[in-house]
Amino acid sequence: MTAERLRLRLKSMEFKVSELEREPIEFDLELGPGAVDLGQEAEQEGQLAAAGLAEVIHEHRGPRDIVADIRLRGRFAGKFQVPCARCVEPVEIPLAADFDLIFRPAGADVEAAERSITAPETEIGYYQKDSLLLEDVLREQVLLSLPVRTLCKPDCKGLCPRCGENRNSQACSCDEGPSDPRWEALAGLRGRMESKDNGPKRN
Ligand SMILES: [Zn+2]
Ligand SMILES: [Zn+2]
Repeated sequence: MTAERLRLRLKSMEFKVSELEREPIEFDLELGPGAVDLGQEAEQEGQLAAAGLAEVIHEHRGPRDIVADIRLRGRFAGKFQVPCARCVEPVEIPLAADFDLIFRPAGADVEAAERSITAPETEIGYYQKDSLLLEDVLREQVLLSLPVRTLCKPDCKGLCPRCGENRNSQACSCDEGPSDPRWEALAGLRGRMESKDNGPKRN
């Protein structure tokens, strides 16, 4: 390693327990576009920067029961595209957050399920086999950092529930109903139906 700060550009980064047992790994890298698959919730835009330290922490559960946990702490920063909750147009969101996480080997807590585990379950993750993929960790961290509901602008008019037109860019003819109490009742109903769709979409 050179003394300069080396910023690696990678598609993937794997931390192997056997390597971490020898020495902790410091990382400072950029994951290329699409390295972190966020499903329908968001899309990674450009490079995702991540820097930090991965190390093994031995949990001594008994004289012959030592669990090798991976502690991963650091920071990520990147830009993401999220669909507007009303009109589905992509909205760019910059995100940056710190993390400090513990990963146990998968199955390490099966026998210990009845023992009391002091750390809240939500802070404990698990790694499969002998390694942890940084992109898997980042996927979860990014999803946790995303706002529950994103609008392209506070007064986004959304899509017309009847013809599907984006009402921010074009008023559709569906809106030109006569001012008649019967139509107003319908419009109110439409409004209620629309507000049902506005919740966060989590699959
Ligand atoms: Zn919108
Ligand atoms: Zn319409």
